Amino acid sequence: MIYTLEGHELKHAAEEMLLTLLPTAALTRADTADGAEGDWCRSCLTERDGEAVGRAVASVGGVVRESERRAPCAGLSPLEHKRVQTELVKMSIYDAVAPALAQPPVWGSLTGVRPAKLARGLIERGMSRGEAAACLRERYYVSPARTALTIRAAATAMELDKCIGPDDISLYVGIPFCPSRCYYCSFVSATTAQSGHLIEPYLDTLCREIAETAALVREAGKRVQSVYIGGGTPTTLNEAQLARLLDTLAQNFDFSRLREYTVEAGRPDTVTPGKLRALRAAGVDRVSINPQSMDDKVLAAIGRRHTAQDVLRAYDEARQAGFRAVNMDLIAGLTGDTAETFARTVDTLIGLAPENITVHTLAIKRGADLTDKAAAAARRETVAHMLDNAAHALQAAGYGPYYLYRQKFMAGGFENVGWCRPDTECFYNVAMMEELQTILSLGAGGVSKRVDRDTGWIERSNNPKYPLEYIRAADRLAAGKRKILLPGQ
Ligand code: SF4
Repeated sequence: MIYTLEGHELKHAAEEMLLTLLPTAALTRADTADGAEGDWCRSCLTERDGEAVGRAVASVGGVVRESERRAPCAGLSPLEHKRVQTELVKMSIYDAVAPALAQPPVWGSLTGVRPAKLARGLIERGMSRGEAAACLRERYYVSPARTALTIRAAATAMELDKCIGPDDISLYVGIPFCPSRCYYCSFVSATTAQSGHLIEPYLDTLCREIAETAALVREAGKRVQSVYIGGGTPTTLNEAQLARLLDTLAQNFDFSRLREYTVEAGRPDTVTPGKLRALRAAGVDRVSINPQSMDDKVLAAIGRRHTAQDVLRAYDEARQAGFRAVNMDLIAGLTGDTAETFARTVDTLIGLAPENITVHTLAIKRGADLTDKAAAAARRETVAHMLDNAAHALQAAGYGPYYLYRQKFMAGGFENVGWCRPDTECFYNVAMMEELQTILSLGAGGVSKRVDRDTGWIERSNNPKYPLEYIRAADRLAAGKRKILLPGQ
């Protein structure tokens, strides 16, 4: 699709909306759409007498449609002014293109990662939950089912937010190693076959970062409220390495006020009774065992080197170890999975009765080619069925949605939803996704965020992305944490 921008340079906003509506489109910006063959879109923005006007004209499938949106813009702060302009560009494109689609996107015109944060903002600015729901449906065209999910997630976040004091923070620790690489993986994670030699030096750097960060946390007078060790697959570490990591954390941080301690034991082929005992002994009370599918053919097709039986064994061992909560992750839309096999997977997991089940939608890898995008688009209906059926089955079994997020390039433009049995929400997931509190991220790829709870302002500090870069940056890691914890020093 050819697109043009007139009177503005909000390229990202325009492209984001076009790709939300037409995920398989190859976008090319041009100076003019005159004479363009195939689909095209013109996005214009003008301002006069304190009013901003967004206009879009789009030709999709040979049918030309126009739209116009207006909003007052006088006296706004630069940030608010940009927000109004961005919304006008996006909404005018949505209005011009969406009528051409066989099915409107379930998330309507929303392109953001955190829909519940938007809903929370509406409620905090004075709307009732019913009014916020009406706003999502009528202003942003969000489907009724997604609106209900969003309002539930927003309500959970508002409830958990009450438990966060001004000095409470959470910790994330990343272990970016896995026993093998899943075909769909979009994380920075190295296989032990390729990068196993980096694990020990990585741990050396991580333990140093833990000690230095803990000293800064003490200096800043902060308290750790939750810990989440993720990856990668943290249980890729052997028992001695895992014990070293857990001991280093316990020796350096004060965990006396911890309300939750999660470790991802995602791949059952890395889980042993000895590792689970070490986790429990360190105070870990929540683990995540992630089958993704309970169909052996699907597991083989996606490059997981384990079977459904291995998942059952790991789950049983986790139960015997006595964790307060176990989460299990699933992915809808995997290669070779059907609505029927996915439904069987959901039923099997419900039968196990973990406290949390997280239903993800396959995200198309960044840089995927058009063939992959087209294949994902073709599976949209199947994925929609998978998600709807899973939601019904989970609700019937007593699970409720407690947090949700979207990723760019998800199959069909859907979402990831964390489901839980009553009162078993994962605090960290909500705090992190809803940006409720400051989170320090240790390890390669860690993004620490200082959240100003009064203004909502967020300051970020990124660790190097890859293990080797991270190891080489050992001397510089503390500076990023200081910026987050002790700004202005
Ligand atoms: S287990 Fe997770 S992080 Fe590791 S390769 Fe698979 S998808 Fe990626």
